[in-house]
Amino acid sequence: MIFVICIAALFAMIYAGRSALKYAREEENARREALIMEEQSNSGSGPVRWELEGAPYIDVQLLTPNEYSRPQIPIEDVNYIAIHYTANPGATAQANRNYFENLAQTQETKVSSHFVVGLEGEVIQCIPTLEMSYATNSRNVDTVSIECCHMDETGTFETATYQSVVKLTAWLCTRFGLTQENVIRHYDVTGKSCPKYYVDHPEAWEQMKADIAARIQEDYILQENL
Ligand SMILES: [Zn+2]
Repeated sequence: MIFVICIAALFAMIYAGRSALKYAREEENARREALIMEEQSNSGSGPVRWELEGAPYIDVQLLTPNEYSRPQIPIEDVNYIAIHYTANPGATAQANRNYFENLAQTQETKVSSHFVVGLEGEVIQCIPTLEMSYATNSRNVDTVSIECCHMDETGTFETATYQSVVKLTAWLCTRFGLTQENVIRHYDVTGKSCPKYYVDHPEAWEQMKADIAARIQEDYILQENL
């Protein structure tokens, strides 16, 4: 009799454990789906809401899924935000986004970025933040990437570009529970001179991280009052 009770109890425990796991998985899937849906709607629950939370205005222009720039590989955990420069002086955010989009046809290389920040501070989103981009090499698996446009070979950011990238990065940090310590340069992953000006001038990079840290605090205050 005791044996039968023990077996029954064991089955009950296994069943309870399994349904708890299943519930947790379903909840996580629903959360991810909601986030991707939000990022696909260029309206109410997306950019308008994000601005109230401290983001700059984000023009959502997701790439057509394709293996060269938007492979739709899930990011399990966002642990870093990586800053890049386009290495293409004078090119606009829209031109960069169109280049990524056209890779589906040209198939010349695999490259992309979640966000592109333009010369006038405009922000275009190309990839949902829960999918991988092809920007940061070995860190693509857990990193959201931001490409920044620049006017000349030095790679310095225009004031408007700088202000937008600070706002965007800070807001992403609040969204994923990160701090300025999780903000990296492409250089920190591969040693590549990217973003060039902020590799050549480490003090400018430290200043950018300090500006992001200050902005994170402001965003949390904004978000508390929503
Ligand atoms: Zn880079």
